[in-house]
Order: sequence, then C-alpha cells, then structure tokens
Amino acid sequence: MEPQGKIWMDGAFVDWADANVHVLTHSLHYGLAAFEGLRCYRGKSGSAIFRLHEHVDRLFESAHIAMMTIPYDKKQVAEAIVETVRINKLDACYIRPLVYIGYGAMGVYPGDNPIKLAVAAWKWGAYLGDDALANGMRARVSSFTRHHVNVSMTRGKISGYYVNSILAKREAKADGYDEAIMLDPEGYVSEGTGENIFIVRKGRIKTTPLTSILEGITRNSVIELAREQGIVVQEDRFTRDEMYIADEVFVTGTAAELTPVREIDNRRIGNGKPGPITAALQKAFFSVVRGEDAAHASWLTRI
Ligand code: PMP
Repeated sequence: MEPQGKIWMDGAFVDWADANVHVLTHSLHYGLAAFEGLRCYRGKSGSAIFRLHEHVDRLFESAHIAMMTIPYDKKQVAEAIVETVRINKLDACYIRPLVYIGYGAMGVYPGDNPIKLAVAAWKWGAYLGDDALANGMRARVSSFTRHHVNVSMTRGKISGYYVNSILAKREAKADGYDEAIMLDPEGYVSEGTGENIFIVRKGRIKTTPLTSILEGITRNSVIELAREQGIVVQEDRFTRDEMYIADEVFVTGTAAELTPVREIDNRRIGNGKPGPITAALQKAFFSVVRGEDAAHASWLTRI
C-alpha cells in the first residue's frame, strides 16, 4: 500500500508515513481492538458515505462488548470519519476506523492503558475483484470452523477474531478459490471471512441467522431491499448441501459489496452465472449507494 494523505489519530491528522504506534501497543500483542469498514461512493450529485451512523453505532457496540471505552462520543467519531474523507479529497474510498488499547501495562490484563482511535481512508476497488463482482466468485467450505458464540462474541467486530478469517482465507486462496465459507460449530453455514451469505431457492431468500455471524450492515440493507421488491427473506440456518443445490448464492459486505457466488466446493451454483435475484439486488444496492434511489437517501451522508 502506497503512503497517501493523512490519517486521523487521537484527535489530530498526521501524515500517512508518521501514523505509527509503539511496538508494545497492547492490541498488537493480544488482538483486542475493534474496527469498522465503511465505503464512500461517488454519485451523480456528489460523494456520500453509506450508512455512516450504523457503522459508528456498531463500533461503539464492539467497544462495549470488548470493554473498551472510546474517549469520544458518537458525533465526534462520525465527524472524524467525514473529515478523513474530506481532508484526503477522496470522492470514493474505503474508510477504516480502529479502536485499540495503547502502550502501558503488558500482560493479558490491560489495566488502564489508554484507548486510542485512528481513522484511515484509501481508494479500494472491488474487494474480490471486478470479475467476481460481475460474473461471480468461486468459494470453498473451509476446514476452519467459525466462532462459537461463547468463545468469541460475534456481535463485535473485534480484530483478534480475524485470525480465524485469515486462516480460512489463506487456505482457500492456496487451493485456488476466491473465498472461504465457514460453518458454525454445529456444522451449519455461518459466513465468509469478511462477508455474510445468502442463498436463493425457488424465488425465496435464506440468510444465516445472527447467532454465529457479524451483524452485517450490507446484509441488513440487502434484506430490506429484497423485501421491498416483494421477495421473501428468511433468517434461518442452512447446510452446505443446501448451498450446493441453491439456484443462486451471493455474499454481502462493505468491502465485498454484493458479490455473486458461481461455484462452491467444485459444484456449479445454478447455471454458473449470477442469477436474476442476485442481479436485481446488486443493481438496487448500487443505485442506493450512488444516490440514485431517493427512497434510501437517509442511508447516505454527503461529504
Ligand atoms: N462478516 C464478517 C466476518 C465481516 O468481516 C464483514 C465485514 N465487515 C461482514 C460480515 C459484513 O459486514 P458489513 O456488511 O457491515 O460490512
């Protein structure tokens, strides 16, 4: 990644190259930090951040679950996010706020180490690639299990949880797939390494219930868009073979947006091309984020 622009750190903007932390930063050793990922899109009438307030709310929820008190209020964090986009003159970008435990005591117990906040933004294209976004990606069911709810509390977007995602992603990439789909400890489909998952069968949509997954903001948006189109959406658990025989499968996430899945475990999904419901929802999603759907203007914060 090339150094670019400025990063907001604890209340002030610093040059990208100077946005450093001490090597004994607590979060770096034990993985307890909370983060968000947001996107800002360029539309016909300017740029806007998608669901800024929901992302700020989730950052505070993650911090609460992790018992980290963010030393700013939600309004200040929202402003820091908007300012980071503005100062870097980015019209379309990905935005990464990170709450972490700073330098101080070492050992698992963080004592009263300072809680720090940083916000960075950079240009980021299609997370799983342009081809995957247009034509669908190939996924495998991971040999790694997703978190048990009493091991990792998945309602929080906590940095350390992503060790599990990295293991699964590396395994999938090494085997030539684009992404991994993880099962929960009971063997039901959970989520991707950074995406929620949906299946379509006989015109109805199913998506994983919230037990073992991150409560995705894109997931929530897509459920709403689907219901507005009169499509039935059930939040119900399902098995890997139910994915294989689905007519359509897609994943959602801020980075991944709405990416079709064309193949899972070497089995073609549907006819191997993005299906009609996936295509319609992808179209609806992109028209919302680009400010072309007046009905969802409240999901956008203008820059
Ligand atoms: N699950 C995981 C594990 C994720 O990392 C993400 C990305 N934040 C999602 C789901 C999707 O969440 P969202 O739509 O809010 O980006």
